[in-house]
Amino acid sequence: MPRIVARIIRTITGTNKQEHNEQNSEQTSCLLNFDLTVIICFFRTRIMRTCIGMMTTGGIGRGFWRGFILLGALLQAACIVSSPRLVSADAAWHPSPNFGMRRANYVILHHTSNDTLAYALNILTHPLSGVSSHYLIGRDGRVLQLVDENERAWHAGASMWSGQTDMNSASIGIELDNTGNEPFPPPQIDALIALLSDIRRRHAIPRANVLGHADIAPARKNDPGVLFPWRQLAQAGFGLWCDPPYPPPPEGFDALLGLAALGYDTRVPAAVIAAFKRRFAPDDEAGAEWTTEHHALLYCLLRASSTPESP
Ligand SMILES: [Zn+2]
Repeated sequence: MPRIVARIIRTITGTNKQEHNEQNSEQTSCLLNFDLTVIICFFRTRIMRTCIGMMTTGGIGRGFWRGFILLGALLQAACIVSSPRLVSADAAWHPSPNFGMRRANYVILHHTSNDTLAYALNILTHPLSGVSSHYLIGRDGRVLQLVDENERAWHAGASMWSGQTDMNSASIGIELDNTGNEPFPPPQIDALIALLSDIRRRHAIPRANVLGHADIAPARKNDPGVLFPWRQLAQAGFGLWCDPPYPPPPEGFDALLGLAALGYDTRVPAAVIAAFKRRFAPDDEAGAEWTTEHHALLYCLLRASSTPESP
């Protein structure tokens, strides 16, 4: 019994990692955990009643520990039930204990295109809408979390960045309550920067990987829009930015290839150029020109994206 207890506690607390894995006696822990969970799931109602009974009768000592063990096992069951195992029928299952949760490597910023936080929240949480995000930030700086960061929110849609096509799986989505035609209030941006700092502590997302929806879907989307303060965000350490004067690009610099190297999907060049200018040269958006100055800006951003970040 003590070994089972230890295994459950290690799994729940996330310490079921390297130090544990070097012990030969625990090599089959994943399978044992899963088998145990199936049993616990089957009897979960009875287990819950037992736990509640122990708590209400004030029993401690052996009763307390039994309740603690069963409650921990129940949490483990809930975890596994909510994350069904995906296996290949063509492969033999040889479980390794050397794994952890997948981590996001991008943050995608959106505007809601809505007038009120309540309206946006209703859409993002409605079971029939088919859309969601991990976070929603109100104009007053209120931050709501709608989806666990470990889960895949539905915010990116058909999109691509650096050849990666499933951006929902790779990113954390943040919706900013904004119509797309209004400035972003300072409390909202302050809250966003604080949230990004918080996310970076957990996920170590590179600064260049803080993107807008329009970056990853330039032919479909324009959010967070031309009024979004990307420069201010970059000054806080999130997203790329370059101020003039820009270094001259090398002779023969291919700007479209440069856009692809930055990460853009360049299959619709006009849409990519518009998205690039909207984000990095918002004052120029009205003009259709794609000038040598823009090439130099792009080259500057490429250099910035390849500069190693201090740990
Ligand atoms: Zn969006």
